[in-house]
Amino acid sequence: MNLANGRPYLAIPGPSVVPDRVLAAMHRPAPNIYEGDLIEKTARIVADLKTVAGTKANVAIYIANGHGAWEGAIANLFSRGEKALSLATGRFGIGWADAARRMGVEVDVLDFGRSSTVDLARLEAALRADAGHEIKVVLTTQTDTASSVRNDIVAIRKAIDATGHPALLAVDAIASLGCDEMRMDAWGVDVLVAASQKGLMTPPGLGFVWFSDKARERCRGGDLATPYWDWGPRAAPDGYYQHFCGTAPTHHLFGLAEALTMLVHEEGLEAAWARHARLARAVWAAFGAWNAGNPDIALNVADPAYRGHSVTAARIGAPFGTNLRNWCEQQAGVTLGIGLGMAEPNETAYHGFLRVAHMGHVNAHMTLGALAVMDAGLKSLGVPHGKGALEAAAAVVAEA
Ligand SMILES: *Cc1c(COP(=O)(O)O)cnc(C)c1O
Repeated sequence: MNLANGRPYLAIPGPSVVPDRVLAAMHRPAPNIYEGDLIEKTARIVADLKTVAGTKANVAIYIANGHGAWEGAIANLFSRGEKALSLATGRFGIGWADAARRMGVEVDVLDFGRSSTVDLARLEAALRADAGHEIKVVLTTQTDTASSVRNDIVAIRKAIDATGHPALLAVDAIASLGCDEMRMDAWGVDVLVAASQKGLMTPPGLGFVWFSDKARERCRGGDLATPYWDWGPRAAPDGYYQHFCGTAPTHHLFGLAEALTMLVHEEGLEAAWARHARLARAVWAAFGAWNAGNPDIALNVADPAYRGHSVTAARIGAPFGTNLRNWCEQQAGVTLGIGLGMAEPNETAYHGFLRVAHMGHVNAHMTLGALAVMDAGLKSLGVPHGKGALEAAAAVVAEA
C-alpha cells in the first residue's frame, strides 16, 4: 500500500514551495537586458523589496544564495582586521561568524545554545567590556532555521543602545523575511540579509542585502569589498547592468516580481505575518497533544514568544525522527526537514530530530495535511503519542 502518488509537498525550511504563478512567470523566452519589461520590473522589485524589509534605505541584489548574501554583507561592512560580535542561537549565527572570520574579520561569538534566545545581559556585558568601541557590528539571526529560535530584534537593538555602544546591527532574516514581522528602519537595523528561496517563494539564486545610510557612510572605503560584492553600484546604479555587476538574473527576476506581487500587493505583509503565526500555532498545538502521551516528543523552544513562525524544530526520540521523515515522504508524499545542528549525522541521537516548515507559499490545508500525515506516521511506526493532535491543530485554524 502506498499513498504517496499525487502532488508532493516539500515541507523543509528552504527551499520552500514555489507558487505555480511564480513558475509560470519564469517560463518565457530570454528577455532583452538593455531595455523593456525587465528594466521596469527591476525597478518595481527594488521598491517591493524595500517594503518587505520595512526600509526606505538601500538594497543590493546578488546572484547568490544565503551564504553569498552573508559574504556580501561582510564584504561591505568590514575592513580586514576589524571586529564583529556574533550572537548564536543555533547553527546560523556560527556559520555567519565563520564566513566573516575567513574573510579576515575578527569575530567573537556569544553562543546561547540550541534552544534559547539571546541573553541580553550577556550581550550588554560584552559591549560594556569593549570600552574602546572596537566592535564595529553586532551580527545576529532573526530566526535560526536549525533551532527555530526567533530573537527579539527590537530588544537586541535596545540592549546595544542601552550600553551607549555605537555598534551597527546586522540581521540575518533569511528564514523569516516575509513570514515574521520585520521593520528594518523602525527597529534600528542597519543591515538586513535575505535570500529568494524561503519566505520570498522564488527558487534559490538571489541574495539580498539592505543597508542603512548610516551603515553606508560608516563603512565607506572598506578594503574587503571586491567589485562584484560592492553594494554601492548595485543599490544606486548608473546603468542597468550595475544592478547585477553584469548580466541580470533574468528569469529569477520575473519569478521574484510575481512572488512580490502576491506577498506585498495581494495578500499584504501584515496578513502574511498573521497567516504564518496562525499556522505555526497549529503545529505547536499538535506537538502539545502528542507530547501529552509521550514526553520524548517535544518542541525545541519552550517559550512560544521565542519560536519562529516559519519553521518548527522538534524531537521525537531516536530513531523515530528519521523513521517518521522517511515514512511521511515514502508513504504520503510529504517531505519534512532533517534535524539540523542538534547532533552529528553519525550519532544515534541525530535520528531523533526533525523540522516542520510552514514557510512562504503555505496555507491551512498544507499545514493540517502535513500534521495529519505525521499523526498517521506515528501510528504506523508504533511511536507512542498523545491523542487529539489534529483536533488541537484544527481548533487553532478555526479560531475567529
Ligand atoms: C537558509 C539559511 C541560510 C543559508 O542560506 P543558503 O541559501 O542555504 O546559503 C542562512 N541563514 C539562515 C537563517 C537560513 O535560514
